[in-house]
Amino acid sequence: MTETTPSIFSRIISGEIPATIVAENDDLIAFEDVNPQARVHVLVVPKTTEYATVAELAAADPELLSKLVALTQQIADERAGGQYRLIFNSGAEAGQTVFHVHAHVLAGELGEGTLV
Ligand code: 5GP
Repeated sequence: MTETTPSIFSRIISGEIPATIVAENDDLIAFEDVNPQARVHVLVVPKTTEYATVAELAAADPELLSKLVALTQQIADERAGGQYRLIFNSGAEAGQTVFHVHAHVLAGELGEGTLV
């Protein structure tokens, strides 16, 4: 865990900040990115605040990562015929701005170079 104050995603999970929620269960929440880079641009976020990056999540809780991927597939099935791009930015130099692990699900009319 690298954050010391609640991330923007923690505030969405708690309901303090509104978001367009696409799916939610005990472990995960999925909501539309506020600045979409494709027709479908959903963020899939573990509710736990323990992990900043996908590598930390994979090492500590591979079952939760597996659940995240399954939810990603479900969202893509519902919204984009099951085809999608899954991106985890890991580290500021790679473009990560929120240090609470999250997957970008991008699908539908991806432009060339849509990398988030
Ligand atoms: P990162 O750059 O950390 O991989 O991705 C963070 C993502 O969170 C960005 O794509 C950004 O648009 C999205 N984001 C930042 N703040 C908010 C917010 O308050 N609500 C929603 N729905 N998305 C946000």
